[in-house]
Amino acid sequence: MPERRGLRIGFDVGGTKIAICVLDADGKYAFKAEAATPRDSYPGFLETASALLKNAREAVPESAKASIGLGIPGEVDVISNTVKNANSTCLIGHNLEEDLARVFGQKVRLANDAQCLIASEVYDGAALGAAVAFGVILGTGVGGGVAVNGEPWRGSNRLAGEWGHNPFPDRDGEQTGSPCYCGRSNCIETVLSGPALVAAYHDATAGENAQLPEIEAMVAEGDPVAREVLSHYIDKLGQALASVVGVLDPEVIVLGGGVSSINAIYRELPERVAAHMFHSGVSKPRLATSIVKSKWGPDSGLRGAARLWPLPK
Ligand SMILES: [Zn+2]
Repeated sequence: MPERRGLRIGFDVGGTKIAICVLDADGKYAFKAEAATPRDSYPGFLETASALLKNAREAVPESAKASIGLGIPGEVDVISNTVKNANSTCLIGHNLEEDLARVFGQKVRLANDAQCLIASEVYDGAALGAAVAFGVILGTGVGGGVAVNGEPWRGSNRLAGEWGHNPFPDRDGEQTGSPCYCGRSNCIETVLSGPALVAAYHDATAGENAQLPEIEAMVAEGDPVAREVLSHYIDKLGQALASVVGVLDPEVIVLGGGVSSINAIYRELPERVAAHMFHSGVSKPRLATSIVKSKWGPDSGLRGAARLWPLPK
């Protein structure tokens, strides 16, 4: 077996699953596994994470002293050091860093999962070399992350890029979203999450159930209802991203999360963003920002989490 250099362990905590990897210095996996996220039990979450770590260390004994980073669907509050803004709500209010350090027997680093995604994509992915990049997760929840000159920019309130819980910017004042788990309503997340797209298809067909891959297949086959539902979704996404362009105007926007695998999005989205951008001139606005699919797909956040610590010497 070849010698594995610079092993680091990463976790990606999602709304439905927890993934773990042991990543080597060349960005190759020495180990990878996942388990279902225990949604309503914090002790259950700690147990599942410990079991995954034990499996990884048994499979790769050289990772016994490897650093551990976690991407979480939320953030750590700068004052209380407890998790906030997590759609895996069982994590909220807990000092996850301290509790994991106790059960793992070593220090961990935590970061928002969208921050991990964009860190990974600027390091060796779809935003390689971008001076300013914005990463978006369109999954169970909707989050975002910013990277500047190759480094994640977390912000003074650790809220940089947390755009999913800004109000959806509808010009007509239409309240398009449902109440959000965060306690407010009309959040961008309630309009643009994967479940929101699935629900839009359900409503448009008066009750047919289809998951994202089926909706994508129907779009490819030319199903008019699926096309209309997706087109409406892309317009809403364009509208929400136009406000990101109005603040950050990044070079690259990287899309991740379940919805980002739908290829039809990338054909239509740039012109939908442009249509909603600030514009008062004569010529039609064109979007100069590239909008690309994350190179590492569902693994992007996981790889970014493993890289929250520097390479071991
Ligand atoms: Zn919200």
